[in-house]
Amino acid sequence: MEVRVSVPLRDFYMGAEHEFQIEKQQICEECEGSGSADGEVDTCGKCGGRGMVVQKHMLAPGIFQQVQMGCDQCGGKGQTIRRPCKVCGGSRVMRKTTTHVLSVEKGMPKGQRLTYENEADESPDWVAGDLVVVLGEKEAELESEDPHRTDGTFFRRKGRDLFWKEVLSLREAWLGAWTRNLTHLDGHTIHLSRPRGETVQPGQVEVVKGEGMPVWLGEAEHVEVDTYGALVVEYVVVLPDQMEGGMEKEVWALWEKWRKKRGVDLGRDAGRPAAAGHGEL
Ligand SMILES: [Zn+2]
Ligand SMILES: [Zn+2]
Repeated sequence: MEVRVSVPLRDFYMGAEHEFQIEKQQICEECEGSGSADGEVDTCGKCGGRGMVVQKHMLAPGIFQQVQMGCDQCGGKGQTIRRPCKVCGGSRVMRKTTTHVLSVEKGMPKGQRLTYENEADESPDWVAGDLVVVLGEKEAELESEDPHRTDGTFFRRKGRDLFWKEVLSLREAWLGAWTRNLTHLDGHTIHLSRPRGETVQPGQVEVVKGEGMPVWLGEAEHVEVDTYGALVVEYVVVLPDQMEGGMEKEVWALWEKWRKKRGVDLGRDAGRPAAAGHGEL
């Protein structure tokens, strides 16, 4: 018996305990699985407890066919109950909701299988199997009221690393002098910044060590470690799609002035090989 329980990324980061409910077949508590209201169970008079009866059919005069079939008196159980249990109606089992506790350990992988021994469907006729919970990652709820989105709306997990996209304006990417404070899954802040004059290229990646997921040592260990993966920040640069007329003129004029003055070649300035048509500022 397998069920999937999904929790937000934050729970994989911090560890969490959740209660979850499943509906399963349980042995009737009222009659303790006998199906009888007074606890008395009789051997079926028709089949003698075998649950099967043999019927003779006459196919033609003098020719009989013997057919073995399930006893209709006891329903094949070999036993009859005079006064069926009022709770289960004599079926000996009933469907019930049971509550279990799910312990998500820090850094557990998505898809982890957690086994609850003998917690699957019960029956008086067999030993209950195991209930297996497959741990899933819940999609963040965009309508939730958490302003810092610590549920992980903008974090993506890959193993022990976390991924984040940070948007910079053209000015920030090019001229630097910016700061960002990211709120991590447990609410602590990660500081990102560049001093004035430090350029960030579109798509540039910054690896912040120790700010990824906690490293989980596996089921057998059950120890908390203080090792974390990395947070991988990818910078996305957004160019302004419109500029105020006056500003556009000034920027254009500035451009022209410096092109004429120095014949600015960004590629050459940066020591990159000149690419035809792309060298101009
Ligand atoms: Zn019978
Ligand atoms: Zn019962």
